[in-house]
Amino acid sequence: MRGEAELRAILGRIDGQGYGAYRDLAGSFRLGALELAIDQVQPDPFAAPSRVRLRVPQRDAGFEPALFEGRARRVALEDYLARVLAREIARRRRGVGEGKSGVVSIDAGGQEVLERSAVAVRPDFVEARLSVGLPGEGRRVLGWDAAKLLCDELRQIARLALRASALPPREAADFVGCVEDQEHLRGQLRAHGLVAFLADGAVLPRESGASDRPLASGALALRAPDGLRVELPLAPRGGAARSVRGLGIPEGVTLVVGGGYHGKSTLLRALERGVYPHVPGDGREAVVTRGDAVKIRAEDGRRVERVDVSAFIGRLPGARAADAFSSEDASGSTSQAANIVEALEAGSRLLLLDEDTSATNFMVRDARMQALVAKEHEPITPFVDRVRELAERHGVSTVLVMGGSGDYLEAADTVIEMRDWQPRVATQAAREVARAHPTGRKPEGAAPFALPAPRAPVPGSLDASKGRREVRIGVHGRELLEFGVEKIDLRAVDQLVDPSQTRAIGFLLDQARRRFIDGKTGLPAILDALEALLDERGLDVLDPLAERAPRHPGDFARPRRYEVAAALNRLRSLRMASGTARERSS
Ligand code: ADP
Ligand code: MG
Repeated sequence: MRGEAELRAILGRIDGQGYGAYRDLAGSFRLGALELAIDQVQPDPFAAPSRVRLRVPQRDAGFEPALFEGRARRVALEDYLARVLAREIARRRRGVGEGKSGVVSIDAGGQEVLERSAVAVRPDFVEARLSVGLPGEGRRVLGWDAAKLLCDELRQIARLALRASALPPREAADFVGCVEDQEHLRGQLRAHGLVAFLADGAVLPRESGASDRPLASGALALRAPDGLRVELPLAPRGGAARSVRGLGIPEGVTLVVGGGYHGKSTLLRALERGVYPHVPGDGREAVVTRGDAVKIRAEDGRRVERVDVSAFIGRLPGARAADAFSSEDASGSTSQAANIVEALEAGSRLLLLDEDTSATNFMVRDARMQALVAKEHEPITPFVDRVRELAERHGVSTVLVMGGSGDYLEAADTVIEMRDWQPRVATQAAREVARAHPTGRKPEGAAPFALPAPRAPVPGSLDASKGRREVRIGVHGRELLEFGVEKIDLRAVDQLVDPSQTRAIGFLLDQARRRFIDGKTGLPAILDALEALLDERGLDVLDPLAERAPRHPGDFARPRRYEVAAALNRLRSLRMASGTARERSS
């Protein structure tokens, strides 16, 4: 491996030359204890920045094995170190040059803690994966500025962020412990018959519709009502037994009622995000939801491919088949039905719905409408007629925000009333109201609901390399995934939280196409295989050139299987073979 003297010599030699001369930097250099690997050199100062890895041997980094033993801790420490690196990078001043000259960045996360490729902690080393804009002016190399950046500044960043002894005392351990507690709580939900837990003291409201940080002033901390208060043990630490009290939401059908502006949607959004751990100070550090929770909403305009929505949608006008429903432009109700069936197909057994984002005619059909429009002219079986059947026959729980219709009262096992931003138990009161005020409606939905048979994606209907040699996958924020010539609209996929998850989904779909999609293998088995691939090889496997490892794996954060399925289901070119293939063929 070349040393610092060689690096400085190259930069001195190419100073003032055309920007392409930076190509001579490709490869690794040893700067004292630090290894600097320049994996990809940008062609000009305006192109995507160069990809650089900083690797410090563990004997110099000095992180205790207890901080990264086991998946949860390692993911937490890696996520934490990415944040420390971002903090240190933000402190430095950017040097001279045009375009992206002197820019240094790392893909650190937001309020959720995710498995990401930005930092790798291993028993023998710690590695940061950065983007670095090599300095240039007038498309010429600024060699001396590059030397300062690569030899001095990056080394300083590594010294401050990749050495345990340089970090604020206890910060890393507290972060890792906080994440571990959340995973521990989530892991206990099933054993306690709960779908979610929200600790006393949790702060659910966010700063604004555009910011996911906690509301700084005027936030009312959550207090569990008697009747739904539970106490869950935490893993002992320092020898002491620990536990936490809060609101436990039981399995079954839970209705969240209450007046407008009393905090119903805020509660549901906290549950949506509770499938991920949160950073210390977020306010939702002890708000955990079962990992298979999927937010369901109406999404008119989306494409739907051969989804069996017959449990919700009967004879459609134009003689469309409801048991293999396809549409280029689904309506509010049919899109919401498809979203439910697709979530169940992907393996979810916990649905989260909010009246604010639901199609009214999908949710309810009251007695007067039943009298006015005869059943034979209404294809929709509303969700209210399926929600109990889902729970009782199929073990599918639902948490539903519904302040506007009382037709759900008899369907609920648990009723939570939000009043002045605090939850109260209203189950008994709801039963009494339901008895005193019958709805007069007739249950609809004659045929029993069956869980969907898996559909098998057809090879050739998803191809990100169409007409090219290399795959083309790009993201615009969290919400838009460019997959070859297709654009996948993910605006309605509420539990996708990070653009780097979106990017990972693009490459996961490509891996699925290469490895698992054969026209016979069902989607659930494909999702299983993708999860196994990530468990075994980590996010680094998603780099299309990873075979030439080691190299910078890009900016990836791990998505859940439900969001991978959601993206595939929204790909407009996708074709599905009908669902008989229950098992993976290979
Ligand atoms: P709903 O769905 O019942 O109409 P929202 O959940 O949309 O109400 O909440 C209305 C407003 O109240 C939002 O601006 C939200 O941020 C705020 N809010 C919710 N819960 C709290 C709380 N615990 N403390 C302070 N403000 C809150
Ligand atoms: Mg609301």
